[in-house]
Amino acid sequence: MRKKVMLKIFLALLIFYSSSATSQIIEIPIPQLPDIAVASIGPYGEPVIYYNPYIVQKVGPLISQFFRAHEYGHHALNHIRREWFEGNPYNRTWLRQNYEKEADCFAARNVPPAVAGAAIQFFALTQGPKRPSWYHPTGYERAAVIKRCAGY
Ligand SMILES: [Zn+2]
Repeated sequence: MRKKVMLKIFLALLIFYSSSATSQIIEIPIPQLPDIAVASIGPYGEPVIYYNPYIVQKVGPLISQFFRAHEYGHHALNHIRREWFEGNPYNRTWLRQNYEKEADCFAARNVPPAVAGAAIQFFALTQGPKRPSWYHPTGYERAAVIKRCAGY
């Protein structure tokens, strides 16, 4: 009986600490990931960033540093939980595109100017008027957000 209570307290504390906003974000390489990186929640409710080490190597250190900051932005801005609770079933696209812009802005404010500059070039040159998936803004839109938030 007493053991069960202790276990319940332990589990409650574990969930509390792992879900608090200040908890450390774990970065996990997933070679099969179809994208460079994704902010997510792990099996114990802990914030994680999954990334594809091959794509990271391919895009180089500046662009990967930008994407890393972008995923940290998704966690810092609480996008993952917000998406669970505030999802508008009639207009998901706009919401998701807005989250991407917010995370880009967060990244632009938290990386060195050389990284922001490389990201602006990357989005303008490799994507331009196109979007890589339905929930991403166009490359030009992302470049404009990064420019504005980095203070160019
Ligand atoms: Zn994103």
